[in-house]
Amino acid sequence: MNVADSRRLASALEQMGCEPTRKPEEADIIVLNTCVVRQSAEDKAIGRLSSLRPLKDKNPDLVINVMGCLIGVRGNQKILEKFPWVDVVSPPSDPRPLLHYLVERSAEEALKAKQTQLNAILDGDVILPKEDQGRLVSAFIPIVYGCSHACTYCVIPSRRGIEHSRPYAEILREARNLVGQGVSEITLLGQIVDRYGLDLPDKPSLATLLRDLHQIEGLKRIRFLTSHPNWMTDDLVDAVAELPKVCPHIEVPIQAGDDDILKAMRRGYTADAYRRLIGDIRERIPGVSIATDIIVGFPGETESQFQKTFDLLEKLKMDVAHLARYSSRPGTYAARKLEDDVPEEEKMHRFRLLEDLQEKISAEINAKLMGETVNVLFEEKSKGRWRGRTPTNKLVFVESVEDLRGQEKDIRITWTGPWSMIGTLAD
Ligand code: SAM
Repeated sequence: MNVADSRRLASALEQMGCEPTRKPEEADIIVLNTCVVRQSAEDKAIGRLSSLRPLKDKNPDLVINVMGCLIGVRGNQKILEKFPWVDVVSPPSDPRPLLHYLVERSAEEALKAKQTQLNAILDGDVILPKEDQGRLVSAFIPIVYGCSHACTYCVIPSRRGIEHSRPYAEILREARNLVGQGVSEITLLGQIVDRYGLDLPDKPSLATLLRDLHQIEGLKRIRFLTSHPNWMTDDLVDAVAELPKVCPHIEVPIQAGDDDILKAMRRGYTADAYRRLIGDIRERIPGVSIATDIIVGFPGETESQFQKTFDLLEKLKMDVAHLARYSSRPGTYAARKLEDDVPEEEKMHRFRLLEDLQEKISAEINAKLMGETVNVLFEEKSKGRWRGRTPTNKLVFVESVEDLRGQEKDIRITWTGPWSMIGTLAD
């Protein structure tokens, strides 16, 4: 979500006459787009923010903008007091505070022209920053902003605001626009992406949106994330199974394998319901890959409750598991009402057990592809190798002098590991 927001802001800044630089010490404007989903992310954001102070001391004209979840939808003005070298703060997904600030700083005679230019930028279609035009292969499109589910551990609803879906036509227009600028793959984003449209007047569904996006000429692949188990409708699963451009890859977090913990997290399903959903998805989408998220060390999680998560993961054999140690977040129900009582070493111990288990599972799943031919869409070359992904979202590296950017190729797999594979061009 932040990558999509940053790209949009970068494009708007370029349209106002700015140019990008990779060196912070050369910049006239620095935007720090922040995530605070876990304490470690917030610490990182604060660390980066503190490291910008010497740049401001050296160049008082430097504009520093902090954006994203550290600011939140209510626009945390305290950041300006606490870090006086910050000039302007912006809520998540909102480029306007910085753009207005820049316009207001303009000389009086230029002010009106700049304001007109800014209005045109904000009303216009999203375009990519110049360095991405004709080069970016895979782009994100946020389709649901905010979240209203209120899992007891999660700070996102209070920082990104209530759930609201973007208008249907706007999404289609943005997708066409991105394809027109060279993009081959789009990933639709939402905290609960499968709730898309439920808050819109005519309640369009994600499945319908996938069917319409599928018709865009030149678009090769469509993905979506993250799904919540309770909103994965039959219609959505059918759409993934039927539409060739929609990748057979589902990101659907379980978070815990014990029903009491799931209840305390306020997830709204049982471990058994999740297990049945995974069985159903696998039956109806042949060759599907499935990723999950798990939090270990939620308040009160006993060893035997953790063991249930371990056993379920062992049984379900997911392609990917994004693991996290519970981190108490201010303002959440869990932070207010539940004691963060699983010691850090124990959280780490549980995390490592799941990490080792998942490494084994992912290695076994990928090993089955050894010698097989898979289709890969290549995104970029790094350290002499082309990097791309299969429709099932598996990372593949290939050495080739040919320019593979944006191309879908059949690749014969010659090496597999848990997190990536290596192959050669099949023809
Ligand atoms: N909205 C999605 C969902 O259904 O949960 C995922 C979005 S969230 C940004 C990504 C992941 O961060 C979550 O799935 C969860 O595993 C993890 N997460 C969220 N809050 C957390 C917390 N307080 N401590 C540890 N991990 C957390």
